[in-house]
Amino acid sequence: LTSKTNGLRHWRQRFAALFQDHEIFIRTHGQVRFLKVTARMQKRLALAVSAVLLLWIAITLTAVISQFLTAHDRVELSEKEASAAAAEMRIAAYRSSVNDLASELDARQAQLEEWQKAYFGNSPLPAEAEATATATADNAPKKISALGGTAEPADLLPEVQKLTQLAARQEALSEHLLAAVNLRASKAEVAVRKLGFNPQQMVRNANAQGGPFIPYPKASSDVADKGTAFAALDRALYRMEVLERTLVALPSGNPADVLMMSSGFGARRDPFNGAGAMHAGLDFRGPVGTAILAAAPGRVSFVGSKSGYGNVVEVDHGQGIMTRYAHLSGFTSKVGQKVAAGMQIAKMGSTGRSTGSHLHFEVRLNGVAVNPRRFLEAKADVLEVKADASERVGNIAGRAI
Ligand SMILES: [Zn+2]
Repeated sequence: LTSKTNGLRHWRQRFAALFQDHEIFIRTHGQVRFLKVTARMQKRLALAVSAVLLLWIAITLTAVISQFLTAHDRVELSEKEASAAAAEMRIAAYRSSVNDLASELDARQAQLEEWQKAYFGNSPLPAEAEATATATADNAPKKISALGGTAEPADLLPEVQKLTQLAARQEALSEHLLAAVNLRASKAEVAVRKLGFNPQQMVRNANAQGGPFIPYPKASSDVADKGTAFAALDRALYRMEVLERTLVALPSGNPADVLMMSSGFGARRDPFNGAGAMHAGLDFRGPVGTAILAAAPGRVSFVGSKSGYGNVVEVDHGQGIMTRYAHLSGFTSKVGQKVAAGMQIAKMGSTGRSTGSHLHFEVRLNGVAVNPRRFLEAKADVLEVKADASERVGNIAGRAI
């Protein structure tokens, strides 16, 4: 401690030694004057100069620091602006994905409405299979809420919530429709098989050739883009359409109001030369002039004379199915005419290779004669499914046979 005070005293002495009283002689025009500059005056001057220096240093430092702080603020501000811009971009991306979802929903809705009109006309959608549909519809909102990331449905924006609900309802509707359509198609398939046809073959044939005058509703090519449920619905609707139209096209009414069938289908003895022959249809015996009725709805495709058959009327029912009415005495229909089942198209007679007044009735699938007996003797369950199919097909405006 003593050495420190000694040191301080030493420096004070050295400082004091810097300032000593001075006397300056000034001679002006021979007169000499004394100017006394005291140590005290020198100390004051030194202090004043030091104070000014200190003040200058302080001002400079303040300027430098404030400049540094401003630069720092600027960096901070631009960082904030950048993060705000990023947030805005995220919001814009979110908006655009919401818009994408909205237009996707619109496209699906349009497809559903198009299908409803094409396959069900103005009749309501099938009410069957609703339980199956509601049971599986619960998956729907999960898929859509992926839009909100991990957010709970309640945290989504109100417009997104609305879209989510709409998407869920739409999904439920399309699944309901799919279940109902599959149910109808299965019933029709069973009925078609009971009538002696191969349902898969019928669908394949329809795919390959299409009906001669039945414009199948073609799904837009981007139906697969609307999801697997829509692609499945597209296939199910097509299958239902072919099978039900096949049922409708197959004759089930007697071609004449006469009960007795005089001759069976298949191999028999030719009534003219006694040789073995193939009988391609069924014969109905009755008086000349008995009304001949269309056995199923369709379009008259031939009216005229054919070798052996005499006077003939042919009706095209679509699905490759045609009926032929032969040995007629007269016609009450024209080529191209649309006919309903049970509508009179001709009169019974005995033209061509005929032994007496009778109707020769044939049913042909893609040109090959099939036994009409299985259609004419169809059981009530098959007829019920057929009536249901006829009702739906008849409801389709502008596309009825
Ligand atoms: Zn015959």
